[in-house]
Amino acid sequence: MNDCIFCKIAAGEIPANKIYEDDKILCFHDLNPQAPVHALIIPKNHVAGLSDLEDAPSEDLGHILKKIPEICDLLGLTGDDGFRFVANCGVNAGQTVFHLHFHLLGGRMFTWPPG
Ligand code: AMP
Ligand code: ZN
Repeated sequence: MNDCIFCKIAAGEIPANKIYEDDKILCFHDLNPQAPVHALIIPKNHVAGLSDLEDAPSEDLGHILKKIPEICDLLGLTGDDGFRFVANCGVNAGQTVFHLHFHLLGGRMFTWPPG
């Protein structure tokens, strides 16, 4: 999609610090990390967010979920410490980039409920 920053990253038009890539998905380090490990996982196909999943090939989403353990290994998020996997959807949740993305955060304690 024109003018979508994550589409441009997926297309290689804007650089990103990539962790994992295949034909369907891309994982890269967040530019403004909120934890010692903060990566984003996106489908390469443009979908605006969780409210727009009817536009998404369902295999992309299952593929993202199934790749979490491999991506955690690449990030050193192993053992029992755990991690947080979260998607912000819409204005109230603080979504700022309207291309579906999942935050993968680790390396510190997180509070619940989130602020
Ligand atoms: P959200 O607020 O859930 O929409 O998250 C968007 C995330 O994208 C934020 O954590 C930003 O720091 C991150 N971000 C924005 N532009 C870039 C970029 N060019 N490369 C890496 N991360 C980015
Ligand atoms: Zn996009």
